[in-house]
Amino acid sequence: MPDKRDYYEVLGVSKGCTDDELKKAYRALAKKYHPDLNPNNKEAEARFKEVNEAYEVLSDATKRKKYDQFGHAGVDPSYGAGASYGGAAGFDFGDLGDIFDSFFGGVGGFTGSSRGRNPNAPQRGGDIRSGISISFMEAAKGCRKEIEISRYEQCSDCSGTGAEKGSTPDTCPECNGTGQVRVSQRTMFGVVQSTKVCTRCGGRGKIINNPCKGCGGAGRVRRSRKLEIAIPAGIDDGQVFAIRGQGDTGLNGGPSGDVNVTVSVRPDPLFERDGYNVWCDIPITFTQAALGSKIIVPTIDGKVEYDVPAGTQSGTVFRLRNKGITAINARSRGDQYVRVSVEVPKNLNGKQKEALKSFESMLGDEQNYEKRKSFFDKLKDWVNE
Ligand SMILES: [Zn+2]
Ligand SMILES: [Zn+2]
Repeated sequence: MPDKRDYYEVLGVSKGCTDDELKKAYRALAKKYHPDLNPNNKEAEARFKEVNEAYEVLSDATKRKKYDQFGHAGVDPSYGAGASYGGAAGFDFGDLGDIFDSFFGGVGGFTGSSRGRNPNAPQRGGDIRSGISISFMEAAKGCRKEIEISRYEQCSDCSGTGAEKGSTPDTCPECNGTGQVRVSQRTMFGVVQSTKVCTRCGGRGKIINNPCKGCGGAGRVRRSRKLEIAIPAGIDDGQVFAIRGQGDTGLNGGPSGDVNVTVSVRPDPLFERDGYNVWCDIPITFTQAALGSKIIVPTIDGKVEYDVPAGTQSGTVFRLRNKGITAINARSRGDQYVRVSVEVPKNLNGKQKEALKSFESMLGDEQNYEKRKSFFDKLKDWVNE
């Protein structure tokens, strides 16, 4: 490097400057040319290296003396004078990142040091998702079902320690079991002490030299389990039913997660649900509707008899109180609604047709057909307007 600038010139100080002046000048320039503040700027990067190199030499009393005497040849091996220092700059950029952290209080993009979570802290186990399909009646009345899940459990071979039977995890010799190590860094401000997570043990403070064969040292294993679950009466399609504490086992004594079971309720051929009410459609004959009749109504509690009164119109809805769904965790129940529809007979033979005609001739609007009469009255008014 033939055209090397004078170190004093690089730092902008006089030859006789004090250590304090040197330090001050260096800080200002290091900040000015720091690569984090000058991204993709080759010129700044070169200046930054130059400044560091100059400071590395001038801040060391012995090297400074040699430099004052012999110039670059006194401190740079490439000049053949045998000075003992390797590397162009005393710091690498990574170190400076840390220094700048304390410099700027971690503000503005220098927050390089990541403080991970404590690996020894209790950690809740994961939740597991599962699903089950049940019938309408099972949902209405509640049921017991079996589901199969796969979850992490504590390894029974090592009781979760991860160490082979008969052995115990050893205290990490690197950090003496604390999980943290002190590091001293030489910086432009002097020696800076800081603590870092021990890399040897990952911050656990323990090292497993003889890992458990059952779990490979992880302390937990995946197991397939069958769980019997009690589904409460009243659960609806799409609802999630949580089984507390049956999910993955926790770490470091943390609680286990849950199993969340999504319930899907199969549609029923007779019943339809609306909130806590149940609807049911029942077809009746014209004669049943006209004369009145006892009909059988299915409910979720079983069959009941219902008296359809004479003159019931198609589409009439009857209510059966407290025959609906029981509200979850409550005593109240919904109602059952029964909608009757009059079925008009099809495929009549001659005899049947004749009977109906002679029956109809005996009826009159005034007497027997309330709706029909009302309609014709309205129609008459409409024509006369
Ligand atoms: Zn184990
Ligand atoms: Zn350690």
